Parts: sequence; structure tokens; C-alpha cells
Amino acid sequence: MNPVLQATGLVKSFGAFTAVNDVSFTVHEGEALAIIGPNGAGKSTLFDLLTGRKTPDTGDVKLFGESVGHLPPWKRVARGLGRSFQVSSVFPTFTAEENVQIGLMLAGGKTWNAFSRATETQKEEAKAILAKVGLAAKKDVPASDMSYGDQRMLELGVALSTRPRLLLLDEPTAGMGREESRECLAQIRAIAASEQIPIVFVEHDMNVVFSFATRVIVLVAGQVLVDAAPEAVRKDPRVKEAYFGEDI
Ligand code: ADP
Ligand code: MG
Repeated sequence: MNPVLQATGLVKSFGAFTAVNDVSFTVHEGEALAIIGPNGAGKSTLFDLLTGRKTPDTGDVKLFGESVGHLPPWKRVARGLGRSFQVSSVFPTFTAEENVQIGLMLAGGKTWNAFSRATETQKEEAKAILAKVGLAAKKDVPASDMSYGDQRMLELGVALSTRPRLLLLDEPTAGMGREESRECLAQIRAIAASEQIPIVFVEHDMNVVFSFATRVIVLVAGQVLVDAAPEAVRKDPRVKEAYFGEDI
């Protein structure tokens, strides 16, 4: 069986500065892989190379054995890659239900414009997705009126609307406190497990990382410092050093 995702020798430079420097790793079925590392380590840039928002200078990305490293984002989405970004990407003036419906229309291969209407099937499906992410009761609330945590769950709902076979989540709990982060990630993990979708996520809070990841990659200065089980990463003196005594 092909691995879910394979990154091989990914390099991305901005001028003389190399943000991602020869990164290789593999994601397997059933995994919840955390990517951690100090600010500026290259995590978001690496995600952009995986999702297609940026193209690598060298290296490749394989999705289910197929090379996608030079495909645009929507073609990767069509091949099963679902994602959410560090910066919120829902339509603020649209309701939760409308946001998910737009996702479903786009996933169905339709172009979307302000006059598009979801089909009855899509409306039903949108309701089912909102129920999965715990937002059934808030379906008519505009995204901008929702709490930060609810907006992140809505983004997960929009990501699920593309029927992903892998979810890439860049700081899904950005801006949340510790308890809210924990609850949000627990919910994401439960959904991913019940849908049998492997996830790759970036998360700041180490306690949250060590509770939910099945494997951890530590990225430092654009390179993989460690790729190991959470317990091994927690004990690794190189990781502590990389964070310069930040509380991990
Ligand atoms: P992280 O997500 O780990 O905090 P990023 O991938 O956002 O790190 O950034 C890694 C480094 O690359 C940072 O030093 C950042 O300033 C730099 N960088 C990111 N995007 C660009 C860009 N478009 N142009 C120039 N430098 C960039
Ligand atoms: Mg980032």
C-alpha cells in the first residue's frame, strides 16, 4: 500500500534565505503527525509546499503514490488533500451553513459565484458536516459573529466538505488558550479517527502535542531535527535546546 503522503528533499528559498532545507518525511494511514518547532522554523512554508500554495525549488510531494509537487492547490484537493491555514479562511459575512455549502460546491467541481445556489443534497450534506464539527445549532450564524474556536471548527467543516483522505492543519488552535486548544484538538482527533482520515498538524502547546500526536517532527531552521514518537521527542535534549529553555 502506498503511503498517504511522501515529502522528499523539499527545498524552498526566499532570496538568499532557505526557509525549508531538504525536508523528507512520510505520513501513513492512521497517523496524527505533529510538526513543531520554534517560530520561523519553516512550518507554514513547509505546509505551503504540501498544499501547493508554494512550489518547491527542488524536491517532490507524493499523495497516495502520485507525484503532486508541481500541481496547483485545487488539483491536490481533488486528489484528497484537505487543509486549513494558520490565518482564518472562512467567508466572514456568510453563515456557517453557507460556508460549508460553498466548500461542497467547489468540491463538486463547480465554479462558485455570489449567485450560485447549493442543491438540496448539498444542503443536507452541509448540515451533516456541521453536526460533525459541533456547529449544528449555529448553522445560521454568520462566521464573523462566531467565537474564535467555533470559526476554527467551521474551517475544519469546510475542509471536510472536500471529502479529504488526509487533513493538513496549520495551527488549528492559533489564538486559543490552553483548555480551548485541548478541547479543539480532542474534537479534531475524534473526527479524524471516526472518519479514518490521517492528520498532519502544527501546534504550539507542547502538552497538547504530546497528548494527541502519534508521531512528532521537530523542525528547526528549515530542517528536520527529530522525527520520532512523542515520548522520545519529549526526552530528547536536542529538542529542549532548540527551544532555548521555552517551557515545553
Ligand atoms: P513558521 O511557520 O515555522 O513560524 P514560516 O514558514 O512562516 O515559519 O517562516 C519561515 C521563515 O521564512 C521565516 O524566517 C519567515 O520570515 C521566512 N519567510 C516565510 N515566507 C516568506 C516570504 N514569502 N518571503 C520571504 N521570507 C519568508
Ligand atoms: Mg507558521
